[in-house]
Amino acid sequence: IADGGSGTGHKDNKTHQGREKADRATRDQVLDQRTEAIIDHMVRKELISELQGVISTGKEANVYAAPLYTYDDEAGTQTGTHYRAAKIYKTSILSFVDRERYITGEHRFRGGGHKGNNRKMVKKWAEKEFRNLQRLNRAGLACPYPIQLKANVLLMEFLGDNEGHAYPRLRDVELEGVDDADIAQQWRSLYIQLLGLVQRLYQVCRLVHADLSEYNILYHERVLYIIDVSQSVGHDHPQTFDFLRMDLHNVGAFFRRKGVDTLRDRTVFEFVTA
Ligand code: ATP
Ligand code: MN
Repeated sequence: IADGGSGTGHKDNKTHQGREKADRATRDQVLDQRTEAIIDHMVRKELISELQGVISTGKEANVYAAPLYTYDDEAGTQTGTHYRAAKIYKTSILSFVDRERYITGEHRFRGGGHKGNNRKMVKKWAEKEFRNLQRLNRAGLACPYPIQLKANVLLMEFLGDNEGHAYPRLRDVELEGVDDADIAQQWRSLYIQLLGLVQRLYQVCRLVHADLSEYNILYHERVLYIIDVSQSVGHDHPQTFDFLRMDLHNVGAFFRRKGVDTLRDRTVFEFVTA
């Protein structure tokens, strides 16, 4: 959306420039005025300098790379770029109604009754993701660090390189190794790593992801990062075990396709919950 990297010099100029680019980004994605105002505020607070290219356009949210440029004010030059990720939940969609079941039955959000009010509903989702990310971080799990939440805009750590390229989803990873046996061994150890993550998620964070798959895991240098935890549920949810079985099933199927001799569902379930 924005070309990025062209920021120069003076503070006012920088803010103005950021604003212009944010305008362009929001216009292209048809974000509503309130969302634009939130982005605008984040630019003014220098949490981000602009919304750059969209990383992902999903049903419920778009994710943008959001660079923060640093400047040498005296020299009037840009000294660096630090990327963040902005997940912007769409405020005008019906699919959130479906998701109500994830919230119903959970203490933290009981009694909300947000049906029929999209904006409030969406805000709850963003809030849920923010809080879940906090829980994951506190438990030391690899995931984006949540930076700020304002209504439907969640600003978080960018999982990617310094040029604004996000780490690949596990789905898209092609492992490199000295030979096939080496690659097979790497897939096997990623499988074990993931089971450990799910166990810690369950036992330390007391959460079940509830949408775990190779699409919601990012990979970089042998580390798996858990993302997309807006629908994750606590132990008090009546369907916790159903969601956990589904998660483990998806994960098992993926690693089997990669040639891993996966453990039996029952064994894995017991490992996670024991
Ligand atoms: P979808 O509906 O497509 O699943 P979503 O609404 O579930 O999207 P996420 O899964 O959280 O949103 O994010 C979508 C994509 O954006 C991810 O697959 C990932 O590629 C990218 N992404 C999300 N968060 C980050 C992050 N913190 N750093 C880098 N990339 C990210
Ligand atoms: Mn996702």
